[in-house]
Amino acid sequence: MVTHTRSHPLLSPSLGTQRQLVSVHYGREGTGPKAYLQASLHADELPGMLVLHHLRKLLDRADEAGEVRGEIVLVPLANPIGLAQRVLHEPGGRFELAGGENFNRRFPDYYPLVRDAVAPLLTADANANRTVVRAALRDALAAVAPESELASLRHTLATLALDSDLVLDLHCDREAVLHLYTDEPFWPAFEPLARDLGVALTVLGRGHGGTTFEESCGQAWWRLAHEFGPAVPHGCMSATVELRGQRDLRHDQAIKDALAIYAFLQRRGHLAGEAPPLPLPVDAPRYWEGMISATAPQAGLVVYTRDVGEHVEAGDTIAEIVDPLDNRVVPVVSRIAGMLYARHLQRYAQPGMELCRVVGEAAVAEAPVVLA
Ligand SMILES: [Zn+2]
Repeated sequence: MVTHTRSHPLLSPSLGTQRQLVSVHYGREGTGPKAYLQASLHADELPGMLVLHHLRKLLDRADEAGEVRGEIVLVPLANPIGLAQRVLHEPGGRFELAGGENFNRRFPDYYPLVRDAVAPLLTADANANRTVVRAALRDALAAVAPESELASLRHTLATLALDSDLVLDLHCDREAVLHLYTDEPFWPAFEPLARDLGVALTVLGRGHGGTTFEESCGQAWWRLAHEFGPAVPHGCMSATVELRGQRDLRHDQAIKDALAIYAFLQRRGHLAGEAPPLPLPVDAPRYWEGMISATAPQAGLVVYTRDVGEHVEAGDTIAEIVDPLDNRVVPVVSRIAGMLYARHLQRYAQPGMELCRVVGEAAVAEAPVVLA
């Protein structure tokens, strides 16, 4: 049994106090592929922590049986800063209170940082190219000295993940179906994960320069491959798993999700043993360009008339805004046909507040929403 935990002290935000990040390591570093999984970077999104709690039991058994190939790293609690935040007794783990930043933004875009360094060194040898790009990524990381607790959190997470072959970032939405986000070039690799999990929806990105953790880990690889050809491997494939909604915290569901991830790790060669038969294909993925965000036209009570997971047609009412002073009811309609896949938890809206999201098969004319 070679499982061990490591503590990573974060930059102290104030005299007399210091937080730390804890990583759990299975297998042996450098002896095979590396998988990295983290939970609750948005610290108010708890289902991922429960899934990793159950996955650890499975990995403990695999470790005892000598079935871990290479290394599997778990960070069961990726954001101790956000998890401790409270305002007027309410938890708030999405934005850092000190500076207002979203915890899952502003991870580096490594492509411009490594492109010029690796360009003259790339050859037709994919394994050699993987080594070259990893070294450049390591140099890019080492060149940064974090100057805040939040920056040191991001830097520590990146340091743990960036040399991985596979990265899964476990999140959830407010109220939502189980869904998966990844970049389009990685879809063939993650299609079996979508099946294993039985996701209701996959949304693919094809934009450049995203700064979520998932985008930061994987994007440089496919952009280099796009520029220099397939001899640059997809050295780190990353996806975000959205484990339904914030209140979906159930053992039976989390155990099922953990088993699905375990099967996927077997399929990818991170674990020995035969994976269960691959479940039937899920629906074809959709794209960020096909997404709209429905917002409240005025203040009032929010009464949803459609549930998450439902298909809606363009023009369908998906919520009503009730103003009990004028005693008026204002319908909120979907501008497109598609799946209503996520809703806000709050039931009182102010004008312009995002209520829910619908993603259809066709691209929407206007720019896709950028979620806070
Ligand atoms: Zn999140």
